[in-house]
Amino acid sequence: MTVTRYVAAIDQGTTSSRCIVFDHSGRIVSVSQKEHEQIFPRAGWVEHDPAEIWSNVREVVGAAIGKADIPKDSIAAVGITNQRETTVVWERATGKPIYNAIVWQDTRTEELCREIAGSQGPDLYRERTGLPLSTYFSGPKIRWILDEVDGARERAERGELCFGTMDTWVLWNATGGPDGGVHVTDVTNASRTLLMDLTTLEWDEAICADIGVPIAMLPEIRSSSEVYGSARPKRGLDGVPIAGILGDQQAATFGQACLSPGEAKNTYGTGNFLLLNTGTSPVQSENGLLTTVCYRLGSADPVYALEGSIAVTGSLVQWLRDNLGLISSAAEVESLARSVDDNGGVYFVPAFSGLFAPRWRPDARGVIAGLTRFHNKGHIARAALEATAYQTREVLEAARADSGVDLTTLKVDGGMVSNELLMQFQADMLDVPVIRPVVSETTALGAAYAAGLAVGFWDDVEDIRSNWAQDKAWQPSMDARKRARLYADWNKAVERTYGWV
Ligand code: ADP
Repeated sequence: MTVTRYVAAIDQGTTSSRCIVFDHSGRIVSVSQKEHEQIFPRAGWVEHDPAEIWSNVREVVGAAIGKADIPKDSIAAVGITNQRETTVVWERATGKPIYNAIVWQDTRTEELCREIAGSQGPDLYRERTGLPLSTYFSGPKIRWILDEVDGARERAERGELCFGTMDTWVLWNATGGPDGGVHVTDVTNASRTLLMDLTTLEWDEAICADIGVPIAMLPEIRSSSEVYGSARPKRGLDGVPIAGILGDQQAATFGQACLSPGEAKNTYGTGNFLLLNTGTSPVQSENGLLTTVCYRLGSADPVYALEGSIAVTGSLVQWLRDNLGLISSAAEVESLARSVDDNGGVYFVPAFSGLFAPRWRPDARGVIAGLTRFHNKGHIARAALEATAYQTREVLEAARADSGVDLTTLKVDGGMVSNELLMQFQADMLDVPVIRPVVSETTALGAAYAAGLAVGFWDDVEDIRSNWAQDKAWQPSMDARKRARLYADWNKAVERTYGWV
């Protein structure tokens, strides 16, 4: 028998799927990644093809293990992490989706959300779920599919259809044999559906009935770290236990070793997500943040977080590349932004999906403010990068107000943190040091930790703490008056985005 020396993580993200193999010290042994198509059938709609995603997952798993050049039986466990809220409904008997996956950024359920909220407004379920009634979450997306696909509601009520977020979809397919796969999700993903009670960690029957989602189609809610099943032959990891599931942001929080109350991380990907560990009881936000489950290890008490989700950050850079053609790669935005000395008074508020935390304005749409004949594409690039830093400051201030915790540093990760200009500007705008860890793939790492802990590959969370190491820190160096002026002007620009829809 081979000694198990590795853990694999499947990271099913918004733009791509990855598989990463880690060793016991939490270092990367191999990576494989594949992008999938972003489908935009109409303005505000965003879909993925679930079959393409599953096929990509299989491919990257095979490729990552191939590159690592290790025996398959040296892998102790697999963890899954995923883009959250993105919703798939499939046939239990065949595993075939009845509609494309509706992605978290999709705003088609706006009117539906208003209708469900009625006169009580969007905070109707906040106390029970920690969330405002918003297009962001899965519940209304499921309802939309059941309303729009012929016969779907009746079939869902009869138990013939399954709902899943991407963790559940991947797990179902990875474990699927002739009798179908394991139909399970974890507490962190379930906490993003608007359908789970934050304290009982069960589906809330009254809310499910209100929103119009039959319980029969929902997966079983389990902890984030336990054996759910094992990968079936020909799925790339034959027989390996699948033992960890965390939504991507919770996984990054775990991978960044934010394991005590008051510790926080900020991930800069398609969107930005700041999570602050608040310990074993949920803290209700009074400042536009979400209350969410951070992780639950087996039967231990769940750990909660306050979360500030920003819909558009890295995807604005993609937009400059794909829709405007200003740059040919995401990394190029930095040199373009450096071609000018400063933003020249230009502010870019990318309210493409309305505004998420802390403002929650579905009526907002994007604005570029402060333009004159003087400005050029360098200023647009700079304003686009700065937008990420200003939005992060808004969220951090809300977290401070809700928790009373004054962060002394901010741990960061995600695709955008290779951008030095942005990281320095972020430290300047927050007036606290910004710190990047050696392993910046914290999302996959967090899922690997959850899986490895479940099978005893790691002993306890102290292993996670001692594996964490700093790569680089950016120190704030902007004077306070300039910081205040820039932020005040940003706020003025944000107000221009309201009321477009
Ligand atoms: P996700 O997990 O959400 O798919 P990633 O963490 O892989 O996202 O980050 C990808 C995002 O980061 C993309 O939106 C891309 O535009 C942005 N990005 C990548 N490199 C840079 C860079 N050097 N500067 C700014 N943005 C970048």
